[in-house]
Amino acid sequence: MKKIMKGLVYGGPGKIELKEIPRPELLKPTDVVVKVLKTTICGTDLGILHGKTPSCLPGTTLGHEGVGIVDEAGSSVRNFKKGDHVIISCITSDGSCEYCKKQMYAHCEDGGWILGHLVNGTQAEYVRIPHADNSLHHVPARADEEALVMLSDILPTGHEIGVLNGRVKPGDTIAIVGAGPIGMSVLLTALFYSPARIFMIDLDGNRLKMAKKFGATDLINSEKEDAVKAIMSSTKDGVDVAIEAVGYPATFDICQQIVRPGGHIANVGVHGKPVDLQLQKLWIRNITLTTGLVNTNTTPMLLKTVMSGKIDPNQLITHHFKLDDVLKAYGVFGNAGKEKAMKVIISP
Ligand SMILES: [Zn+2]
Ligand SMILES: [Zn+2]
Repeated sequence: MKKIMKGLVYGGPGKIELKEIPRPELLKPTDVVVKVLKTTICGTDLGILHGKTPSCLPGTTLGHEGVGIVDEAGSSVRNFKKGDHVIISCITSDGSCEYCKKQMYAHCEDGGWILGHLVNGTQAEYVRIPHADNSLHHVPARADEEALVMLSDILPTGHEIGVLNGRVKPGDTIAIVGAGPIGMSVLLTALFYSPARIFMIDLDGNRLKMAKKFGATDLINSEKEDAVKAIMSSTKDGVDVAIEAVGYPATFDICQQIVRPGGHIANVGVHGKPVDLQLQKLWIRNITLTTGLVNTNTTPMLLKTVMSGKIDPNQLITHHFKLDDVLKAYGVFGNAGKEKAMKVIISP
């Protein structure tokens, strides 16, 4: 068996390199090793590259999304065996700690977001998945495996942290601030709950056009017009749900200015700086503010909606690369506006 493989290794802020590294091995009987067939790059990976995640140490292989085939399974893994096609969840969970018992897998005491962060990740030929029984999902027969890569992270994140936390209901007016992969995942999964109006706000005209195709009813290019004024003048008193899908103080500020009394602000974006919370205005308006890291407890449900054709996450894929060209893929994903990129697929 080949003992060396290629993987994309983080070398400290600003540094990534495709290197020959040891192929992962089973370390515990609950592990499996997966041969990666499809992976992708997340905004969080760019965050690590830009030095925003000091908990990710140099030498770590990046990536926390992907689909693959089980190459080797530990002796106590019950649900998966060699040869099974699997979706890798961005969240690892043992299924037995206090948080797992509450389905808060994001905070598993022996897991959470560790892949491509605290342990080696999926942007490689092989990846070790701890607690495989609770951290993988079977790929159904005849599934489009590229589409299923969107179930590793972005679709459950958009659905759980944006749509469910924001309590989107039939007839609601909602606003999604940020039309990147996460904002688009919020949009696709918000449609399950039939909101009446969906405002999509972004600086990029091309992304707004894509959002329109997916079902956004009102597009606001915040480079050309004031998003707060535009929404307040075309609604009675703002939106029922404002979903932050960028992670900057300015985009959070839009949300707190457009939420109507009784409404919800659901923060999905990854923030690196404090925001200016206008509590002196918000306290009297009966709003809720939620935050979160995806638990992935809705992934099995989302998989059914993909398999039945209710949503088509393939629409989010704009580029394909070989693992050998992964640095090129980072270049394209990192310049998403210019490159008209949404999600990129990387294959061996
Ligand atoms: Zn991610
Ligand atoms: Zn746990």
